[in-house]
Amino acid sequence: MAHKIKSELIRLSKCSISLDEKKAVNKVLDSEFLGMGPEVNKFEEELSSFFGRKAIATVNGTAALHLALQCANINTNHSVLVPSLTYIASFQSITAAGATPIACDVLEDSLLLDLKDAENKLTNNTKAIMPVHYSGGVGDLSKVYDFAENYNLRVIEDAAHAFGSTYNGKKVGSFGDIACFSFDGIKNITSGEGGVIITDDQKVIKKAMDARLLGVINDSKKRYLGGRSWMFNSKEQGWRYHMSDIMAAIGRVQLKKFPLLLAKRRKLAIHYDKLFSNSNRIITLDRDYNTVVPHIYPIRVKNLNDRENLKEQLLKRNIQVGYHYFPNHWLDYYKESNNHLPVTESVFPELLTLPLHPDLEESDVEYVVSEITKILG
Ligand SMILES: *Cc1c(COP(=O)(O)O)cnc(C)c1O
Repeated sequence: MAHKIKSELIRLSKCSISLDEKKAVNKVLDSEFLGMGPEVNKFEEELSSFFGRKAIATVNGTAALHLALQCANINTNHSVLVPSLTYIASFQSITAAGATPIACDVLEDSLLLDLKDAENKLTNNTKAIMPVHYSGGVGDLSKVYDFAENYNLRVIEDAAHAFGSTYNGKKVGSFGDIACFSFDGIKNITSGEGGVIITDDQKVIKKAMDARLLGVINDSKKRYLGGRSWMFNSKEQGWRYHMSDIMAAIGRVQLKKFPLLLAKRRKLAIHYDKLFSNSNRIITLDRDYNTVVPHIYPIRVKNLNDRENLKEQLLKRNIQVGYHYFPNHWLDYYKESNNHLPVTESVFPELLTLPLHPDLEESDVEYVVSEITKILG
């Protein structure tokens, strides 16, 4: 049978919420304590056992990155290497810490940070590197750590896309320096908004626990019990970056459901890969879905000169697509003269992100692929 236009919009991304999340939120509402309390404590403990390391929950992933940088002592004297092809949150977190982001190019096959380009951009002020695990892939992460060791850099992993992905059999975040995840509505798991810092570094842990609560020393412990500090001290700049019990309640249910969400995301991405494997126009990302949990499914359409038109035609067929991401070195705030990133600049106009979320079916993926193929002719 010929494909008909689907009657319902196939969304680019969305969260997958069941009755369990609603019940959990209602329970918090019924308690009439909505702030940071016992639910956040339990969510952090569950995340700690997931990663085998300390977890510090935050109000969102950007806040997690900002806190991680600040608590690793990255400041106005420093610059941070980061790929331009990332969500603006990576860059904003660096400037929030007062530091200067150095926009780097990516590798063509993986769209992950190009260490050769990063090496060319090192200065005496470079004190950190922020690899971005685009679409859930981490590439050769040990090379990033070798590079960091060589040049004495902190590594703050922007792992917002990579919740559940593994590297050499270990979960991303369970090893290395500092990893930050996002639990925003469309990420691999959600707590509504939300984020987390995962690290073993005791100094960073101690600082971040206070800095997320306006710098109030040891307030986290009181909050876990549903209280707060009345007589307190503060020695450093902090922010109102803590997570609430409403958010943690959603996150806890999602973490429990994660094996299902992970399996679904992988299955759909593998199906896309298979359907595109014979295409001479469409290039899929270099990802192994035995290890990667895909947050998004971007493709590259070779010689695509009117992406906006393709996007509109797909929307007419009830398929929503996106572009990940508008390069940060093209933004007024982050523009530097003479910083040209050939791969990023040539790849970005041909990138198209296709629908991927746990409530899609393989038949939806087949519909999306067949409509794109038809439009491209
Ligand atoms: C989502 C995301 C973030 C930030 O997370 P929020 O929770 O939205 O603040 C950071 N980096 C990347 C690459 C992201 O996709």
